[in-house]
Amino acid sequence: MFDKVLIANRGEIALRILRACKALDIKTVAIYSKADRDLKHVRLADETVCIGPNSSAESYLNIPAIIAAMEITDSVAVHPGYGFLAENADFAEQVQKSGYTFIGPDPEVIRLMGDKVSAIEAMKKAGVPTVPGSGGPLPEDENACLEIAERIGFPVIIKAAAGGGGRGMRVVHEPEALWNSVRVTKTEAKAAFGDDTVYMEKFLQNPRHVEVQVMSDGQGSAIHLYDRDCSLQRRHQKVLEEAPAPGIPDEIKNEVFNACTNACIEIGYRGAGTFEFLYEDGGFYFIEMNTRIQVEHPVTEMVTGIDLIQEQINVCAGNKLRYKQEDIKLKGHAFECRINAEDPRTFMPSPGKVQKYHPPGGLGVRVDSHLYGGYSVPPYYDSMIAKIITHGDDRRTALKRMEIALDELVIDGIKTNTDLQKELVRDKAFGEGGVNIHYLEKKLAAK
Ligand code: ADP
Repeated sequence: MFDKVLIANRGEIALRILRACKALDIKTVAIYSKADRDLKHVRLADETVCIGPNSSAESYLNIPAIIAAMEITDSVAVHPGYGFLAENADFAEQVQKSGYTFIGPDPEVIRLMGDKVSAIEAMKKAGVPTVPGSGGPLPEDENACLEIAERIGFPVIIKAAAGGGGRGMRVVHEPEALWNSVRVTKTEAKAAFGDDTVYMEKFLQNPRHVEVQVMSDGQGSAIHLYDRDCSLQRRHQKVLEEAPAPGIPDEIKNEVFNACTNACIEIGYRGAGTFEFLYEDGGFYFIEMNTRIQVEHPVTEMVTGIDLIQEQINVCAGNKLRYKQEDIKLKGHAFECRINAEDPRTFMPSPGKVQKYHPPGGLGVRVDSHLYGGYSVPPYYDSMIAKIITHGDDRRTALKRMEIALDELVIDGIKTNTDLQKELVRDKAFGEGGVNIHYLEKKLAAK
Protein backbone atom coordinates (compact mmCIF):
# COMPACT_ATOMS: atom_id res chain seq x y z
CA MET A 1 0.00 0.00 0.00
CA PHE A 2 1.06 3.62 -0.49
CA ASP A 3 2.98 5.29 2.32
CA LYS A 4 1.83 8.84 1.62
CA VAL A 5 -0.82 10.28 -0.71
CA LEU A 6 -1.17 13.87 -1.86
CA ILE A 7 -4.78 15.01 -2.23
CA ALA A 8 -5.00 17.26 -5.29
CA ASN A 9 -8.43 18.67 -4.61
CA ARG A 10 -10.46 20.73 -2.15
CA GLY A 11 -13.81 20.82 -0.33
CA GLU A 12 -15.91 17.80 0.49
CA ILE A 13 -14.11 15.36 -1.82
CA ALA A 14 -10.69 16.21 -0.36
CA LEU A 15 -12.11 15.42 3.08
CA ARG A 16 -13.67 12.21 1.76
CA ILE A 17 -10.31 11.08 0.29
CA LEU A 18 -8.53 11.99 3.54
CA ARG A 19 -10.93 9.77 5.49
CA ALA A 20 -10.28 6.83 3.13
CA CYS A 21 -6.50 7.31 3.45
CA LYS A 22 -6.72 7.37 7.24
CA ALA A 23 -8.74 4.15 7.23
CA LEU A 24 -5.96 2.55 5.17
CA ASP A 25 -3.21 4.00 7.43
CA ILE A 26 -1.85 6.12 4.61
CA LYS A 27 -0.24 9.47 5.49
CA THR A 28 -1.88 12.46 3.82
CA VAL A 29 -0.72 15.71 2.26
CA ALA A 30 -3.26 18.47 1.68
CA ILE A 31 -2.52 21.14 -0.91
CA TYR A 32 -4.50 24.35 -0.80
CA SER A 33 -4.81 27.75 -2.44
CA LYS A 34 -4.49 30.97 -0.41
CA ALA A 35 -8.28 31.23 -0.17
CA ASP A 36 -8.53 27.68 1.19
CA ARG A 37 -6.31 27.94 4.25
CA ASP A 38 -9.29 27.19 6.52
CA LEU A 39 -10.57 24.09 4.75
CA LYS A 40 -11.45 21.28 7.14
CA HIS A 41 -9.23 18.62 5.54
CA VAL A 42 -6.23 20.99 5.66
CA ARG A 43 -6.55 20.96 9.45
CA LEU A 44 -6.75 17.16 9.53
CA ALA A 45 -3.97 16.24 7.07
CA ASP A 46 -0.53 15.11 8.22
CA GLU A 47 1.20 17.72 6.08
CA THR A 48 0.02 20.75 4.15
CA VAL A 49 1.41 22.79 1.27
CA CYS A 50 0.07 26.11 0.02
CA ILE A 51 0.47 25.74 -3.74
CA GLY A 52 -0.65 29.08 -5.05
CA PRO A 53 -3.07 32.00 -5.20
CA ASN A 54 -6.86 31.84 -5.30
CA SER A 55 -7.44 31.18 -8.98
CA SER A 56 -7.74 27.46 -9.85
CA ALA A 57 -5.44 27.95 -12.84
CA GLU A 58 -2.62 28.98 -10.50
CA SER A 59 -3.36 26.44 -7.77
CA TYR A 60 -5.46 23.27 -8.21
CA LEU A 61 -4.75 23.18 -11.96
CA ASN A 62 -1.06 24.08 -11.64
CA ILE A 63 0.64 20.81 -12.63
CA PRO A 64 4.30 21.81 -11.95
CA ALA A 65 3.34 23.18 -8.50
CA ILE A 66 1.52 19.95 -7.60
CA ILE A 67 4.41 17.76 -8.71
CA ALA A 68 6.82 19.99 -6.76
CA ALA A 69 4.58 19.55 -3.69
CA MET A 70 4.80 15.76 -4.13
CA GLU A 71 8.58 16.04 -4.30
CA ILE A 72 9.06 18.13 -1.18
CA THR A 73 6.67 16.00 0.89
CA ASP A 74 7.90 12.60 -0.38
CA SER A 75 4.40 11.66 -1.49
CA VAL A 76 4.27 8.51 -3.59
CA ALA A 77 0.83 8.92 -5.14
CA VAL A 78 -1.72 11.61 -5.94
CA HIS A 79 -5.51 11.35 -5.69
CA PRO A 80 -7.17 13.83 -8.08
CA GLY A 81 -10.78 13.52 -6.80
CA TYR A 82 -13.27 14.83 -9.38
CA GLY A 83 -13.10 18.01 -11.47
CA PHE A 84 -9.79 19.94 -11.71
CA LEU A 85 -7.14 17.49 -13.04
CA ALA A 86 -9.07 14.26 -12.47
CA GLU A 87 -9.50 13.52 -16.19
CA ASN A 88 -6.42 15.32 -17.46
CA ALA A 89 -4.29 12.73 -19.28
CA ASP A 90 -1.29 15.11 -19.45
CA PHE A 91 -1.32 15.42 -15.66
CA ALA A 92 -1.51 11.64 -15.20
CA GLU A 93 1.38 11.27 -17.64
CA GLN A 94 3.57 13.84 -15.91
CA VAL A 95 2.88 12.26 -12.55
CA GLN A 96 3.98 8.87 -13.91
CA LYS A 97 7.04 10.34 -15.65
CA SER A 98 8.09 11.92 -12.35
CA GLY A 99 8.04 8.46 -10.79
CA TYR A 100 4.78 8.77 -8.84
CA THR A 101 1.44 6.99 -9.04
CA PHE A 102 -1.69 8.66 -10.39
CA ILE A 103 -4.73 7.20 -8.63
CA GLY A 104 -6.72 6.45 -11.75
CA PRO A 105 -6.28 4.65 -15.07
CA ASP A 106 -3.27 5.04 -17.36
CA PRO A 107 -3.01 8.28 -19.37
CA GLU A 108 -3.70 6.42 -22.64
CA VAL A 109 -6.98 5.10 -21.22
CA ILE A 110 -7.97 8.57 -19.97
CA ARG A 111 -7.23 9.89 -23.47
CA LEU A 112 -9.20 7.13 -25.17
CA MET A 113 -12.25 7.74 -22.99
CA GLY A 114 -11.81 11.54 -22.84
CA ASP A 115 -12.37 11.77 -26.56
CA LYS A 116 -16.05 10.88 -26.87
CA VAL A 117 -15.69 9.76 -30.48
CA SER A 118 -12.97 7.22 -29.65
CA ALA A 119 -14.81 6.25 -26.45
CA ILE A 120 -17.98 5.40 -28.38
CA GLU A 121 -15.94 3.39 -30.88
CA ALA A 122 -14.22 1.43 -28.10
CA MET A 123 -17.54 0.76 -26.37
CA LYS A 124 -19.19 -0.47 -29.56
CA LYS A 125 -16.30 -2.91 -29.99
CA ALA A 126 -16.81 -4.17 -26.45
CA GLY A 127 -20.51 -4.76 -27.10
CA VAL A 128 -21.87 -1.76 -25.17
CA PRO A 129 -25.02 -0.29 -26.81
CA THR A 130 -24.57 3.30 -28.09
CA VAL A 131 -26.86 6.08 -29.38
CA PRO A 132 -27.47 5.90 -33.16
CA GLY A 133 -25.12 8.51 -34.58
CA SER A 134 -22.45 9.59 -37.02
CA GLY A 135 -20.07 6.87 -35.81
CA GLY A 136 -17.15 9.29 -36.05
CA PRO A 137 -16.29 12.98 -36.49
CA LEU A 138 -18.55 15.04 -38.76
CA PRO A 139 -17.08 15.88 -42.17
CA GLU A 140 -16.44 19.50 -43.22
CA ASP A 141 -19.20 19.28 -45.76
CA GLU A 142 -22.74 20.56 -45.52
CA ASN A 143 -24.36 17.94 -47.73
CA ALA A 144 -22.52 15.05 -46.11
CA CYS A 145 -23.68 16.26 -42.66
CA LEU A 146 -27.23 16.55 -43.92
CA GLU A 147 -27.13 13.00 -45.25
CA ILE A 148 -25.94 11.72 -41.86
CA ALA A 149 -28.68 13.65 -40.03
CA GLU A 150 -31.35 12.30 -42.36
CA ARG A 151 -30.12 8.77 -41.92
CA ILE A 152 -30.27 9.18 -38.09
CA GLY A 153 -33.53 11.17 -38.23
CA PHE A 154 -34.24 14.60 -36.69
CA PRO A 155 -33.97 15.84 -33.98
CA VAL A 156 -30.22 15.31 -33.66
CA ILE A 157 -27.64 16.62 -31.19
CA ILE A 158 -24.22 17.96 -32.22
CA LYS A 159 -21.62 17.25 -29.53
CA ALA A 160 -17.98 18.20 -29.05
CA ALA A 161 -15.69 15.15 -28.97
CA ALA A 162 -13.68 16.84 -26.19
CA GLY A 163 -16.78 18.21 -24.40
CA GLY A 164 -17.56 17.91 -20.72
CA GLY A 165 -19.53 19.48 -17.90
CA GLY A 166 -22.64 19.75 -20.04
CA ARG A 167 -20.98 22.19 -22.44
CA GLY A 168 -20.42 21.94 -26.18
CA MET A 169 -23.76 20.48 -27.26
CA ARG A 170 -26.51 21.75 -29.56
CA VAL A 171 -29.86 20.20 -30.47
CA VAL A 172 -31.05 20.58 -34.08
CA HIS A 173 -34.71 20.06 -34.95
CA GLU A 174 -34.77 20.75 -38.69
CA PRO A 175 -32.46 20.42 -41.71
CA GLU A 176 -32.34 24.20 -42.35
CA ALA A 177 -30.63 24.80 -39.00
CA LEU A 178 -28.13 21.95 -39.24
CA TRP A 179 -25.08 23.43 -40.93
CA ASN A 180 -25.10 26.61 -38.88
CA SER A 181 -25.37 24.57 -35.66
CA VAL A 182 -22.45 22.38 -36.69
CA ARG A 183 -20.29 25.45 -37.34
CA VAL A 184 -21.26 27.23 -34.11
CA THR A 185 -20.64 24.10 -32.01
CA LYS A 186 -17.26 23.66 -33.70
CA THR A 187 -16.26 27.25 -32.92
CA GLU A 188 -17.40 26.91 -29.31
CA ALA A 189 -15.63 23.57 -28.90
CA LYS A 190 -12.39 25.06 -30.23
CA ALA A 191 -12.63 27.95 -27.76
CA ALA A 192 -13.65 25.86 -24.74
CA PHE A 193 -11.69 22.63 -25.26
CA GLY A 194 -9.03 23.49 -27.86
CA ASP A 195 -10.41 20.85 -30.24
CA ASP A 196 -13.14 21.51 -32.81
CA THR A 197 -14.00 17.86 -33.54
CA VAL A 198 -17.78 17.34 -33.33
CA TYR A 199 -20.01 14.34 -33.89
CA MET A 200 -23.74 13.72 -34.20
CA GLU A 201 -26.20 11.61 -32.25
CA LYS A 202 -29.92 11.05 -32.35
CA PHE A 203 -31.45 13.39 -29.78
CA LEU A 204 -33.49 11.16 -27.53
CA GLN A 205 -36.71 12.92 -26.53
CA ASN A 206 -37.49 11.65 -23.05
CA PRO A 207 -34.56 9.61 -21.74
CA ARG A 208 -33.47 9.00 -18.18
CA HIS A 209 -29.82 9.32 -17.17
CA VAL A 210 -28.74 5.97 -15.76
CA GLU A 211 -25.10 5.16 -15.03
CA VAL A 212 -23.13 2.09 -14.02
CA GLN A 213 -20.38 2.12 -11.37
CA VAL A 214 -17.41 -0.12 -12.07
CA MET A 215 -14.17 -1.01 -10.32
CA SER A 216 -11.34 -2.70 -12.15
CA ASP A 217 -7.80 -3.71 -11.20
CA GLY A 218 -6.20 -3.64 -14.65
CA GLN A 219 -5.05 -7.19 -13.97
CA GLY A 220 -7.96 -8.97 -15.60
CA SER A 221 -10.67 -8.45 -12.98
CA ALA A 222 -13.54 -6.01 -13.12
CA ILE A 223 -16.80 -5.75 -11.20
CA HIS A 224 -19.85 -3.53 -11.41
CA LEU A 225 -21.50 -1.98 -8.36
CA TYR A 226 -24.93 -1.57 -9.89
CA ASP A 227 -26.47 1.60 -11.19
CA ARG A 228 -27.54 5.13 -10.31
CA ASP A 229 -30.29 7.32 -11.69
CA CYS A 230 -29.24 10.97 -12.12
CA SER A 231 -32.10 12.23 -14.25
CA LEU A 232 -32.86 15.28 -12.11
CA GLN A 233 -30.62 17.81 -13.84
CA ARG A 234 -30.50 21.52 -14.45
CA ARG A 235 -28.46 22.65 -17.44
CA HIS A 236 -27.01 19.13 -17.71
CA GLN A 237 -25.82 19.37 -14.09
CA LYS A 238 -27.01 16.70 -11.68
CA VAL A 239 -29.04 17.90 -8.68
CA LEU A 240 -30.40 14.78 -6.93
CA GLU A 241 -29.28 11.19 -7.47
CA GLU A 242 -30.40 7.75 -6.36
CA ALA A 243 -29.29 4.12 -6.42
CA PRO A 244 -30.50 1.87 -7.89
CA ALA A 245 -32.44 3.33 -10.85
CA PRO A 246 -36.11 2.51 -10.13
CA GLY A 247 -38.42 0.52 -12.37
CA ILE A 248 -35.98 -1.04 -14.84
CA PRO A 249 -36.15 -4.84 -15.21
CA ASP A 250 -33.11 -6.76 -13.91
CA GLU A 251 -32.66 -8.66 -17.20
CA ILE A 252 -32.11 -5.39 -19.07
CA LYS A 253 -29.76 -4.06 -16.40
CA ASN A 254 -27.70 -7.23 -16.13
CA GLU A 255 -26.93 -7.24 -19.82
CA VAL A 256 -25.56 -3.69 -19.57
CA PHE A 257 -23.63 -4.43 -16.36
CA ASN A 258 -21.87 -7.33 -18.10
CA ALA A 259 -21.06 -5.21 -21.14
CA CYS A 260 -19.49 -2.59 -18.84
CA THR A 261 -17.24 -5.03 -16.98
CA ASN A 262 -16.21 -6.61 -20.31
CA ALA A 263 -15.33 -3.16 -21.63
CA CYS A 264 -13.16 -2.50 -18.54
CA ILE A 265 -11.15 -5.62 -19.19
CA GLU A 266 -10.91 -4.91 -22.92
CA ILE A 267 -9.48 -1.39 -22.46
CA GLY A 268 -7.24 -2.36 -19.52
CA TYR A 269 -9.12 -0.11 -17.13
CA ARG A 270 -7.79 0.47 -13.61
CA GLY A 271 -9.62 2.16 -10.74
CA ALA A 272 -13.14 3.46 -10.22
CA GLY A 273 -15.13 4.42 -13.29
CA THR A 274 -18.63 5.23 -14.49
CA PHE A 275 -20.37 4.36 -17.73
CA GLU A 276 -23.07 6.92 -18.41
CA PHE A 277 -26.15 5.92 -20.40
CA LEU A 278 -29.38 7.38 -21.57
CA TYR A 279 -32.26 4.99 -20.97
CA GLU A 280 -35.40 5.21 -23.08
CA ASP A 281 -38.19 2.71 -23.85
CA GLY A 282 -36.34 -0.27 -22.41
CA GLY A 283 -33.06 0.51 -24.19
CA PHE A 284 -29.69 1.66 -22.79
CA TYR A 285 -27.51 3.96 -24.92
CA PHE A 286 -23.92 4.72 -23.88
CA ILE A 287 -23.00 8.42 -23.94
CA GLU A 288 -19.66 8.66 -22.12
CA MET A 289 -17.34 7.18 -19.52
CA ASN A 290 -15.98 9.10 -16.53
CA THR A 291 -12.54 7.80 -15.61
CA ARG A 292 -12.64 9.00 -12.01
CA ILE A 293 -14.63 8.87 -8.79
CA GLN A 294 -17.89 10.78 -9.14
CA VAL A 295 -19.71 13.26 -6.91
CA GLU A 296 -22.62 10.83 -6.50
CA HIS A 297 -20.51 7.79 -5.50
CA PRO A 298 -21.92 7.75 -1.91
CA VAL A 299 -25.34 6.42 -3.01
CA THR A 300 -23.57 3.36 -4.39
CA GLU A 301 -21.55 3.00 -1.18
CA MET A 302 -24.78 3.07 0.82
CA VAL A 303 -26.50 0.31 -1.18
CA THR A 304 -23.44 -1.95 -1.50
CA GLY A 305 -21.58 -1.24 1.75
CA ILE A 306 -18.32 -0.93 -0.24
CA ASP A 307 -15.95 2.01 0.35
CA LEU A 308 -15.31 2.96 -3.27
CA ILE A 309 -12.42 5.31 -2.60
CA GLN A 310 -10.55 2.80 -0.44
CA GLU A 311 -10.97 0.18 -3.16
CA GLN A 312 -9.93 2.66 -5.84
CA ILE A 313 -6.73 3.40 -3.88
CA ASN A 314 -6.18 -0.33 -3.34
CA VAL A 315 -6.30 -1.29 -7.01
CA CYS A 316 -4.30 1.76 -8.11
CA ALA A 317 -1.57 0.71 -5.66
CA GLY A 318 -1.20 -2.36 -7.88
CA ASN A 319 -3.20 -4.78 -5.74
CA LYS A 320 -5.87 -7.13 -7.03
CA LEU A 321 -9.55 -6.36 -6.51
CA ARG A 322 -10.57 -7.48 -3.02
CA TYR A 323 -14.09 -8.30 -4.20
CA LYS A 324 -15.63 -10.72 -6.64
CA GLN A 325 -18.88 -9.92 -8.42
CA GLU A 326 -20.86 -12.28 -6.17
CA ASP A 327 -19.61 -10.35 -3.09
CA ILE A 328 -21.44 -7.24 -4.25
CA LYS A 329 -24.98 -7.37 -2.91
CA LEU A 330 -27.53 -4.65 -3.44
CA LYS A 331 -29.17 -3.66 -0.17
CA GLY A 332 -32.01 -1.14 -0.09
CA HIS A 333 -32.13 2.25 -1.73
CA ALA A 334 -30.22 5.53 -1.35
CA PHE A 335 -30.62 9.19 -2.34
CA GLU A 336 -28.21 12.10 -2.50
CA CYS A 337 -29.17 15.78 -2.51
CA ARG A 338 -26.47 18.20 -3.60
CA ILE A 339 -26.52 21.36 -1.49
CA ASN A 340 -25.12 24.35 -3.36
CA ALA A 341 -24.29 27.85 -2.12
CA GLU A 342 -26.52 29.59 -4.63
CA ASP A 343 -29.43 31.95 -4.93
CA PRO A 344 -32.60 29.81 -5.05
CA ARG A 345 -34.22 31.99 -7.72
CA THR A 346 -31.36 33.00 -10.01
CA PHE A 347 -29.03 30.03 -9.30
CA MET A 348 -26.14 32.51 -9.06
CA PRO A 349 -23.39 31.45 -6.62
CA SER A 350 -23.82 32.81 -3.09
CA PRO A 351 -20.43 32.71 -1.37
CA GLY A 352 -19.84 34.15 2.12
CA LYS A 353 -19.58 33.29 5.78
CA VAL A 354 -21.62 30.42 7.20
CA GLN A 355 -22.96 31.75 10.50
CA LYS A 356 -24.68 28.62 11.73
CA TYR A 357 -24.35 25.06 10.52
CA HIS A 358 -26.43 22.17 11.86
CA PRO A 359 -26.14 19.00 9.78
CA PRO A 360 -28.90 16.37 10.02
CA GLY A 361 -28.35 12.93 11.56
CA GLY A 362 -29.99 9.68 12.57
CA LEU A 363 -30.17 6.15 11.22
CA GLY A 364 -29.44 5.95 7.50
CA VAL A 365 -28.30 9.57 7.21
CA ARG A 366 -24.84 10.53 5.95
CA VAL A 367 -23.47 14.02 5.35
CA ASP A 368 -20.38 14.54 3.19
CA SER A 369 -19.40 18.17 3.71
CA HIS A 370 -16.47 20.36 4.64
CA LEU A 371 -18.70 22.98 6.28
CA TYR A 372 -18.50 24.20 9.87
CA GLY A 373 -19.91 27.25 11.65
CA GLY A 374 -17.78 30.30 10.84
CA TYR A 375 -16.39 28.84 7.60
CA SER A 376 -16.35 31.22 4.64
CA VAL A 377 -17.35 29.77 1.27
CA PRO A 378 -14.90 31.36 -1.21
CA PRO A 379 -16.22 32.71 -4.53
CA TYR A 380 -13.53 31.11 -6.69
CA TYR A 381 -14.63 27.48 -6.98
CA ASP A 382 -17.62 25.20 -7.47
CA SER A 383 -20.63 26.14 -5.34
CA MET A 384 -21.41 22.65 -3.99
CA ILE A 385 -20.93 22.72 -0.21
CA ALA A 386 -22.59 19.54 1.07
CA LYS A 387 -24.11 16.25 0.03
CA ILE A 388 -26.93 14.86 2.13
CA ILE A 389 -27.23 11.11 1.63
CA THR A 390 -29.92 8.81 3.03
CA HIS A 391 -30.36 5.06 2.93
CA GLY A 392 -33.29 2.78 3.72
CA ASP A 393 -34.46 -0.78 3.17
CA ASP A 394 -36.67 0.47 0.36
CA ARG A 395 -37.07 3.59 -1.76
CA ARG A 396 -39.96 4.98 0.29
CA THR A 397 -38.01 4.73 3.57
CA ALA A 398 -34.88 6.32 2.12
CA LEU A 399 -36.93 9.16 0.62
CA LYS A 400 -38.77 9.81 3.90
CA ARG A 401 -35.42 9.96 5.70
CA MET A 402 -34.29 12.55 3.16
CA GLU A 403 -37.39 14.68 3.84
CA ILE A 404 -36.60 14.66 7.56
CA ALA A 405 -32.87 15.24 7.01
CA LEU A 406 -33.45 18.28 4.79
CA ASP A 407 -35.86 19.72 7.34
CA GLU A 408 -33.17 19.39 10.04
CA LEU A 409 -30.44 21.01 7.94
CA VAL A 410 -29.54 24.57 8.98
CA ILE A 411 -27.07 26.65 6.98
CA ASP A 412 -27.30 30.33 7.94
CA GLY A 413 -25.46 33.28 6.45
CA ILE A 414 -25.43 32.21 2.81
CA LYS A 415 -28.17 31.29 0.36
CA THR A 416 -28.59 27.65 -0.62
CA ASN A 417 -30.79 25.43 -2.80
CA THR A 418 -32.13 23.50 0.23
CA ASP A 419 -35.72 24.62 -0.35
CA LEU A 420 -35.64 23.33 -3.92
CA GLN A 421 -34.38 19.96 -2.67
CA LYS A 422 -37.18 19.87 -0.05
CA GLU A 423 -39.68 20.44 -2.82
CA LEU A 424 -38.16 17.76 -5.06
CA VAL A 425 -38.21 15.01 -2.45
CA ARG A 426 -41.91 15.73 -1.90
CA ASP A 427 -42.69 15.88 -5.62
CA LYS A 428 -45.36 13.36 -6.58
CA ALA A 429 -43.89 12.22 -9.91
CA PHE A 430 -40.39 11.93 -8.45
CA GLY A 431 -41.84 9.96 -5.56
CA GLU A 432 -43.25 7.45 -8.03
CA GLY A 433 -39.82 7.13 -9.65
CA GLY A 434 -38.50 7.21 -13.20
CA VAL A 435 -38.85 10.87 -14.25
CA ASN A 436 -36.79 11.85 -17.32
CA ILE A 437 -33.92 14.31 -17.77
CA HIS A 438 -36.26 17.19 -18.73
CA TYR A 439 -38.47 16.90 -15.67
CA LEU A 440 -36.64 19.37 -13.42
CA GLU A 441 -36.18 22.07 -16.08
CA LYS A 442 -39.87 21.84 -16.98
CA LYS A 443 -40.86 22.08 -13.35
CA LEU A 444 -38.63 25.14 -12.86
CA ALA A 445 -39.97 26.78 -16.00
CA ALA A 446 -43.54 26.31 -14.78
CA LYS A 447 -42.79 28.18 -11.52
P1 ADP B 1 -20.95 15.96 -20.57
O1 ADP B 1 -19.67 15.22 -20.76
O2 ADP B 1 -20.82 17.41 -20.95
O3 ADP B 1 -21.59 15.72 -19.25
P2 ADP B 1 -22.76 14.01 -21.83
O4 ADP B 1 -22.47 13.38 -23.14
O5 ADP B 1 -22.55 13.17 -20.61
O6 ADP B 1 -21.93 15.38 -21.73
O7 ADP B 1 -24.24 14.54 -21.81
C1 ADP B 1 -24.73 15.32 -20.74
C2 ADP B 1 -26.25 15.38 -20.75
O8 ADP B 1 -26.71 15.91 -22.02
C3 ADP B 1 -26.94 14.04 -20.61
O9 ADP B 1 -27.07 13.63 -19.26
C4 ADP B 1 -28.28 14.36 -21.25
O10 ADP B 1 -29.06 15.13 -20.35
C5 ADP B 1 -27.91 15.27 -22.43
N1 ADP B 1 -27.67 14.48 -23.67
C6 ADP B 1 -26.45 14.08 -24.16
N2 ADP B 1 -26.60 13.36 -25.30
C7 ADP B 1 -27.93 13.28 -25.56
C8 ADP B 1 -28.72 12.65 -26.60
N3 ADP B 1 -28.18 11.95 -27.61
N4 ADP B 1 -30.08 12.80 -26.51
C9 ADP B 1 -30.65 13.50 -25.51
N5 ADP B 1 -29.96 14.10 -24.51
C10 ADP B 1 -28.62 14.02 -24.53
